[in-house]
Amino acid sequence: MLNLLWLQSGGCGGCTMSLLSANNPHFIQQLKVSNINLLWHPSISEESTHQALEILTDILEDKIKLDILCLEGSLLRAPNKTGFCHIMAGTNIPFIDWMEKLANKSDYTVAVGSCAAYGGITSAGGNPTDACGLQYEGHIAGGLLSAQYKSKKNLPVINISGCPTHPDWVLITLSMIANNQLALEDLDEYLRPKFFTKHLVHHGCNRNEYYEFKASAIQPTDLGCMMENMGCLGTQAQADCNIRPWPGGGSCTSGGFACINCTAPDFEEPRQSFMKTPKLGGIPVGLPLDMPKAWFIALSTLAKAATPKRLKEGATADVVSYKSGTPNKGGTDV
Ligand code: SF4
Ligand code: SF4
Repeated sequence: MLNLLWLQSGGCGGCTMSLLSANNPHFIQQLKVSNINLLWHPSISEESTHQALEILTDILEDKIKLDILCLEGSLLRAPNKTGFCHIMAGTNIPFIDWMEKLANKSDYTVAVGSCAAYGGITSAGGNPTDACGLQYEGHIAGGLLSAQYKSKKNLPVINISGCPTHPDWVLITLSMIANNQLALEDLDEYLRPKFFTKHLVHHGCNRNEYYEFKASAIQPTDLGCMMENMGCLGTQAQADCNIRPWPGGGSCTSGGFACINCTAPDFEEPRQSFMKTPKLGGIPVGLPLDMPKAWFIALSTLAKAATPKRLKEGATADVVSYKSGTPNKGGTDV
């Protein structure tokens, strides 16, 4: 039986909310199946602050073995790297100090969500809390823990990025750890488990046909591909969101929202609107991964010339249904 401790710092709790919506199987059931004992989780456990602190202290005193340490939310180092922005409840000790000590006791250290992995949304803008990730600050190695940090099983921090994380990404990673199936070669260049980053969000998107003919949406409720105008980064974003349905089904793009590449370091600072594609000379600045610009221009020109009428009209047809009598660009009246 492996002991798992889950802590939270500078985040919104959305990764836990996502995890709790896992339904096949649900979180607690999957832990049982994987032979994992949940020592404590701030949203689920019954133990009070005092009792939780006893668990943490027992870990530091080697009375309880810590197999897996999960952190959700970024580390808040302000002011002046003291960490007093976030004091651990019931103590007068900064959370970052607890985290550093616990990370040296854990067999595996796991960052859940882009905040914990790279700083994420919490580190956006002026970053007054000096938020960073466990072992990264944006795309630069080294966060609260040094770039050289290794957990007791000789692995760096495992970064299950995403904002929020898909529950499967967390549950499968935990089960791989429990089955001794997760090694360094299973992690990508930003230490994310490859099983979900070897795909692009673009794979399986239900707007792929529009993409092929560059039949593009021009406003949020249109049916067309959102790459050309609406800021969609699905062709660059490494995640399997459109292959692995989210609980309840669907994904951002199937819901009509552009992919903002939330599994990537620094996604929170796109330097342009999340919902507008930056262009140079009419050509999108961010091109699909590995695609040379000349190819993109040639292919999209050809594709646009060959766009079937059905797709040309469909791209800007409204996915939203209007009340009868309201002018409509192609949606169904209700
Ligand atoms: S990664 Fe996103 S969902 Fe998760 S805690 Fe941070 S802001 Fe919330
Ligand atoms: S909307 Fe985005 S993910 Fe979907 S086909 Fe277009 S570029 Fe790809």
